[in-house]
Order: sequence, then structure tokens, then C-alpha cells
Amino acid sequence: MEGFKRDSIIFRILSEAISEGIIVVNKSQEIVATNNAANTLFGYEKGELIGSSLDTLIPVKYHHVHMHHVEAFLENSGKRKMGHGRDLYGLRKDGSQFPVEAGLNPFNIYDSTYVMALVIDISIRKKAEQEIIDLNADLEKKVEERTHQLKEALRKEKYLNELKTKFLSLVSHEFKTPLGGILTSSILIGKYPNTEQQEKRDKHIKTIQNKVKFLNNIINDFLSIERLESGNVNYKFTTFPLSKIINEVVYYANMLLKDGQKINYPENIDSIFLEFDEKILHLIITNLINNAIKYSSDNSTIDIEVLLDDKVLTIHIKDEGIGIPEQEQKHIFNRYFRAENALINQGTGIGLNIVKSHLENLGGTINFISEENVGSTFSIRVPISSN
Ligand code: ADP
Repeated sequence: MEGFKRDSIIFRILSEAISEGIIVVNKSQEIVATNNAANTLFGYEKGELIGSSLDTLIPVKYHHVHMHHVEAFLENSGKRKMGHGRDLYGLRKDGSQFPVEAGLNPFNIYDSTYVMALVIDISIRKKAEQEIIDLNADLEKKVEERTHQLKEALRKEKYLNELKTKFLSLVSHEFKTPLGGILTSSILIGKYPNTEQQEKRDKHIKTIQNKVKFLNNIINDFLSIERLESGNVNYKFTTFPLSKIINEVVYYANMLLKDGQKINYPENIDSIFLEFDEKILHLIITNLINNAIKYSSDNSTIDIEVLLDDKVLTIHIKDEGIGIPEQEQKHIFNRYFRAENALINQGTGIGLNIVKSHLENLGGTINFISEENVGSTFSIRVPISSN
């Protein structure tokens, strides 16, 4: 150390000219010289560090590791940057820490080995790096979100395309028979020109009306799916009497009745007012009553029952029809699903699926009990706001 001091003036002149901190240690890691920049960096007065161990400038938790590095370094002596690939920290006099990068330069002078460390404070660089890391993470998150949205949009579009294909094939199947019926009936009407043949004409007019209603229902169901899938359903809440909907639905359902079939109208519903989407309730009850008619035979009865408690309105639609085979009951609300015993009737397997989706969107529920060849009861529950 004495020897080192001999050239201290030259050292000082050179070292004060550069902005990096310079710390020179001897073999036992004792500090023998520092420049002003190093003192300022670590918060020491001029000369204060001389004679201290290098450990003074290193946070305690790195002491052990650091010792190893320096020893290894002195053995393979050569210029090298420290902190490459791992984080190095300096310890200020006031106890605070800051990230540093250190370049080590060993040299021999007067038969002793010294190491000169050039130290730079890299807080600002580290901060910038961290900002870039954060920005990247943010960007990655955004890309991920966007990718997810795009995938979702793609899935919907694919689904809607499938739906269109399905629609076309269903249309060709499901529309052919009723359209054929309509054509036949209208031809037959022309064959009854006489006044007293009104009864015959009426029969064919009824057939035409039925088939048109049937086709209309299929189209409504498809529109419903399209809206439900593309997220374009806008529910409109209004207050209306339940009897209005039941009357309308039953009025149209009466046109579809088979020979000897009858619908029992619910009792005491005149005072019930609902705050709900009127069109959707209409669609729901229409679907259930049309199924009850379609899946039961001549001379059977369909009961509509309405129950009301404080907040929930329950509507049961009960038929004496073909029922749903037990093993198929769990699939009944799946889109396009049709039970084996229903296939002789026309249908798309869409109605119940839509009914359920709408009800769930509106805070309601649907369930059923059914026994094959005995009958089915479908029950819907909807929240009501006023009575
Ligand atoms: P679709 O009647 O057009 O086939 P739905 O979605 O309305 O479609 O009904 C799905 C299936 O549920 C029907 O194909 C039938 O198997 C069964 N189903 C629905 N309602 C009844 C009912 N009242 N009686 C017996 N089976 C029914």
C-alpha cells in the first residue's frame, strides 16, 4: 500500500478525469484507492474508504458470493466485466443499495497484485430495462387478449356458417312437406267452387294456415339462434297481463289441434301481470304448446296450469303424448337433438334449446318430467315483478 501511494498524484490526475467510480483493492480486498466519482457513488468523504474492506461497499447478502468471485478472478487474472449475466449491487454509506456494473482490471505494481474496479451506477439503465420488461409483458397480455377475442370471433363465425349450412339442409327437408301440403290444399280449394262447399274449402284453408304457421315457427327459431349466437338479443321488458299471451298462444294453437284434442285454459290468471319480454314469453309458450300438440295423438288433452307465489310464476304445460324415453331425457335441451320416438313427426330439435337459452338469460328456468307413452309436463319458472 505504501508503494501504491508513491504514484498517487498521477493516479489522482488520471482517475478524477473519468466519470466511472474507480476502486483499487489489494490482494486481501482492502481498499487502497478510490476516485471522487466512487466516493460520491457510495456516499463517502474523500479518503474515508481507504483501508476498509471491499465488503463495506457490498450488501451483506452478497458478501459470500462476491468473495468467491474475486478469488476465482485473481487466480485466472484477466480483464473482465463483473455482473455479466447476473445482478450486482453496491451498498451506500447510508445503507441504501443500487445496481452496479463493475469492470475488473488486475495489475501488478512493485511486486504486489492489485485489482482496479471500474464501477458504474446502472439504476437508470435497470429502470429502463424494467420498463421495457413491463411494457413487453403488457404487450404480450394485450396480444393474448386480442388473440383470444379473434379466436372467439372466428368460432362464432364458423358456428354461424355451420348454422347457415344446417339451415339450408333443414329448409330443404322441413319446408318441402308443408309447402307440398299448401300447394295441394290450394289446388283442392279450386275444385270446390260452389257456395254450399264452404265446409270443404274451410278444411283446406285450415291446412294452409297450419302449414304456414309451422314454417313461420321454424324461421323464428332460426332467427332466435342466430341472435343468441351472435349476441344480438335485445330483451325488451314491459308490463303486460299474462292472460294476453296465453290467449294469443292458445288462439293459434287451436288451429293446430288434431281431431278431438283440446287445451284446458288455466284458471284465475286475469289478475297476473308480468314484467318480462312479451315476445320471448310468447315464443316460449308457443314452443311448448306446439310440442304438446305435435307429440300427442287425437282425442288427448293438454293442460295449462299457472301457479304464482311471491316472486315466481310457474307455468306447467302437460300433455298425454308419446313422452320422452328415459335414456334420451338428458339430451333433450341440446340443440338439434330429437328423441328416437319423435322422428316420425316433423321437427328441427331447435325449439327447446332456444327456450332454455332465453329463459336462462332472463333469470328463469325450465324443466320437465316425462314418461314414454304416458305424457310429459314441461314447467317454466319466470321471475315476476308485479302482481
Ligand atoms: P322439435 O320438436 O322441432 O324436434 P324441440 O327442440 O322443440 O324440437 O324438441 C326437441 C325434442 O324433444 C323433440 O324432438 C322431442 O323428441 C322431444 N320433445 C319435446 N317436447 C316433447 C313433448 N311434449 N312430448 C314428447 N317429446 C317431446
